[in-house]
Amino acid sequence: MKKTIIKDQTFLAQPSSPANKSDSQQITDLVDTLQANSDRAVGLAANMIGVNKRIIAFKMGIMNIPMVNPKITKKSGRYQTSEGCLSLPGERETTRYKKITVDYQDSNFKHHTQEFTDFVAQIIQHEIDHCNGILI
Ligand SMILES: [Zn+2]
Repeated sequence: MKKTIIKDQTFLAQPSSPANKSDSQQITDLVDTLQANSDRAVGLAANMIGVNKRIIAFKMGIMNIPMVNPKITKKSGRYQTSEGCLSLPGERETTRYKKITVDYQDSNFKHHTQEFTDFVAQIIQHEIDHCNGILI
């Protein structure tokens, strides 16, 4: 179900807790909310819909992909860029990496290790920052 986007900076600054199988509905809600905002967002983290759990969702091609408990284990190709966020006005400067390796669980809690590059990697880094209470 589509949820409202949280803009409360104090709430968003709290690091999220690990997600588990009792959070399945929250994964669905996050993907639904990303879909509902597809005209203006390419990724969301669960705390942006008021759920303080380590769940993100991002757009890859036409798919909205959820990731549970994502963790970057390798990164390379540091660069500077500027980004926007649904929870913040305007854009801000930030440092990202061109290529990352991510350990995560899918919506069925199956473990994966996968490499991502370029724009998708950038979205994942932005959303994982949200899980750590970091806004751009
Ligand atoms: Zn954001």
